[in-house]
Amino acid sequence: MMEQKIIRCAVYTRKSCEDGLEQEFNSLDAQRLAGENYIASQIHENWRLISKHYDDGGFSGGNMNRPALKELFADIEAGLVDMVVVYKIDRLSRSLFDFSNSSGKLMLNILLSFAQFEREMTGERIRDKFASSLKKGLWMGGNPPMGYDVKDRKLVINEENARLIKLIFEKFLKTESYFEIAHALNDAGIKTKRGSLFSPQHIQRILKNPYYKGCVTHKGNVYPGEHEAIIDEETWDKVQEIFKAKSIPGRRKKQSQSPSFLSGLIKCCDCGCSMKQTYTYKKNLRYRYYTCYNHIKFKSCSAPRSSFPAEPIEQQVVSEIVRILKSPEVIMHLNRLAEEDKKINKTQLLAALKNLNSVWRYLYQAEQKKIVDMLVNNVIVKEDGLKINLNLDGFDPLLTQLAN
Ligand SMILES: [Zn+2]
Repeated sequence: MMEQKIIRCAVYTRKSCEDGLEQEFNSLDAQRLAGENYIASQIHENWRLISKHYDDGGFSGGNMNRPALKELFADIEAGLVDMVVVYKIDRLSRSLFDFSNSSGKLMLNILLSFAQFEREMTGERIRDKFASSLKKGLWMGGNPPMGYDVKDRKLVINEENARLIKLIFEKFLKTESYFEIAHALNDAGIKTKRGSLFSPQHIQRILKNPYYKGCVTHKGNVYPGEHEAIIDEETWDKVQEIFKAKSIPGRRKKQSQSPSFLSGLIKCCDCGCSMKQTYTYKKNLRYRYYTCYNHIKFKSCSAPRSSFPAEPIEQQVVSEIVRILKSPEVIMHLNRLAEEDKKINKTQLLAALKNLNSVWRYLYQAEQKKIVDMLVNNVIVKEDGLKINLNLDGFDPLLTQLAN
């Protein structure tokens, strides 16, 4: 019997200097992890990771003058590497390679296997850590907040508009009224960036926009940004303190908020109404809750509590879904599906299921919602825990989607 040859796989990662190496989501690590996971998923093809790292941090992709890449090529020449996995095709520029010679053929192989990886990634709608780092450092398009311009995909201060933003914050500390500020600006003939009049909501949005204190937002979370702040920490904090004092329950509903993947599914155990997302703020940190409005409004609800912290509930729902997807029953079911439908790639599907837990937080909210909507009828929140009612009919379509 012939022994199958082991394919020794190297992971190559690169990051250019302008991306910011010191970021919390170091994308060299993220790329390495993605590559390692891919190699692990190809274990049946005898792919094995070699432990040596080939990381080019702070080098441009525009030329081949990169130490780790040179070393990688030397190791390929020396016969130590059979396969190279890179995260994105554009991490190595295509035009640099002549595909006719042997190292070119190797490169073609890499690109092809990687294209497959990319297809799988998009197929599963997986978002990686890049999304987060990009959103942190680079402006992702659209109109920048008033007071900033976009230059080379980065936010830079527009001095004239920044003065206006400062003025709005200062005025608010004195008047505590969006209305008065909007009025004053309109009276003075000052217009918004789009050339319209200022509304009180406009002023409110400006005062709550964390970009002005140098932060960025992603999926409802606030991260330190790389752009220059317009408002100093002290002023920002004072203004947010005023909001906190002003806020009354129910009023928060109007505030812009990202819908949770449980919205519409999460029910009060007593009155059965849909619980809504609410927020409290402590020391500039936002805490999310699910709240029964009937209870708050003293309407026919005698549940012991009106609000429950959102995150533990969501985590529990996700782990329940993942637990079921990994159960022997589902795996057996999956085998049957794969026999009936030859289009289903069982290995790929198993790998997708295996990673579902860790990729969950990289999914966009809308994608999380789609999966949860398929699988969960409702979630009832009780003092002593959750009751998750699953829609078992939803697993077939989801498995088919993951497999294709
Ligand atoms: Zn209730």
